[in-house]
This record gives sequence, structure tokens and C-alpha cells, in this order.
Amino acid sequence: MSPRWSCWSILGLMGNISMNLVFVCPENHKTFETDHFNIIQDNGVKMTETGQRVWDAKVELVSGCPFCGKIHEYQVSDLPCPFS
Ligand SMILES: [Zn+2]
Repeated sequence: MSPRWSCWSILGLMGNISMNLVFVCPENHKTFETDHFNIIQDNGVKMTETGQRVWDAKVELVSGCPFCGKIHEYQVSDLPCPFS
């Protein structure tokens, strides 16, 4: 069985993201798209128990959320893949 590469593991190997990502506001459950975010934690690409490679990293919004004004942070593997 060959290891499965998730979309995010490929981005993790690239080491940076300079594209719009889709985020969900945890307060209003509405989605928005922005490229104003920073990678605040990068633990590299990890293998999960199920053999899937994921990028273990966190991003934080640079400017406040358009719906509630808060600076949210997200685990990148929870975000929708920008290539799909
Ligand atoms: Zn919000």
C-alpha cells in the first residue's frame, strides 16, 4: 500500500502558501476567502495512523474575520484543499 498524499502535505513540502484559502468563521459558520494569513506553527509533514500524510501546521488571520472581526486560527488540515 503506497502512502496517500493529502493535498495539504504537498503544500507543506512547498513550505509556503501564497494563495487565497477558504476559511470558516467558527462563530457564524460562514465561509470567506483571503490570502491575509500567516503560518504561525509548522511542524512539517507527518504520517497519521491511517497512513495518510498531512501537514501539521497552523495559520492565523492577519486581519480580523469579515463576519465577527476576530483573529481566528486554524489547523491547516481542517481547511478545504485549495486545489480541489
Ligand atoms: Zn469570525
